[in-house]
Amino acid sequence: MMDEHYRWMRKAVDLAALSISELGRGDPPPAVGAVIVKDGIEVASAFRGQCAAGNHAEKCAIESAGEKNLHGSVVYTTLEPCSRRNAPKIACAQRLIDQGVSTVYIGLYDPNPKIYREGWKMLRDAGISLRDFPADLRNELRVINAEFLNQYRSNGNPSGSVTFDYVQSPIFTIGKPPFAIDTTWSHAASGVIHAYSDNGKIALARYAESLDEIDDPSAMNFNPDKSSVTAKVGNIIVFRGPRENMYAILKVEQVLSLDRKDDRNEVTFTYEIRTINTKGPLDDFLE
Ligand SMILES: [Zn+2]
Repeated sequence: MMDEHYRWMRKAVDLAALSISELGRGDPPPAVGAVIVKDGIEVASAFRGQCAAGNHAEKCAIESAGEKNLHGSVVYTTLEPCSRRNAPKIACAQRLIDQGVSTVYIGLYDPNPKIYREGWKMLRDAGISLRDFPADLRNELRVINAEFLNQYRSNGNPSGSVTFDYVQSPIFTIGKPPFAIDTTWSHAASGVIHAYSDNGKIALARYAESLDEIDDPSAMNFNPDKSSVTAKVGNIIVFRGPRENMYAILKVEQVLSLDRKDDRNEVTFTYEIRTINTKGPLDDFLE
């Protein structure tokens, strides 16, 4: 896929690698590059922190374009444009809408589950065409953003609902290390998904319809030779944790896939961490 778009996406990835982390920031920031192209010619480009510490790449690129008219331009950004910022800051998605850009190519989606796909939705609702970077460039972005991405992988809550892109981020960790359960996902078919763990640590709770129906998760048939199950929407999967008495039970609530003409690859599940016959409270396992 060595077309013109690939060339600009390639450049955005190379720029992302130059990103500068602002000093004193506690959580690892993303590495982001953005390129603005109009009529086949680069108008502006930037990486995160290039204009000023902490400045987003899209904002910096738009500012570098100066007085140039960006109407109808194509933007290649390695991270989903941000959807909200504390006033008086303006979110990058809004800036791109205000500039009248026609198309945005997005590398990775924001891994923060609270804002994941919000920037994409803002742009889509404004009538902007949206495309994804190809898999090879997304893989490069995952490598240079490993720290940034990992901070969202682990979810310490004992129960909840999660939604994520199972192609871009196939692993979701429930609980906190060392008592964490890695769940891995891949597309199976329309409304059907594969879930993976280690051998003997995953089981399908056949016929169960709600998490409440799972009385004792250890009673499931954990086949020592099996490391995956295939689940439909509504199915319940039981993962065995790093201790024999720790389990995560999940209900698959929704599966979207580009293959069946959905606009994204996405799984949503609800889950609970269960411990059985434990001496201490659940918190001991989550600490
Ligand atoms: Zn931004």
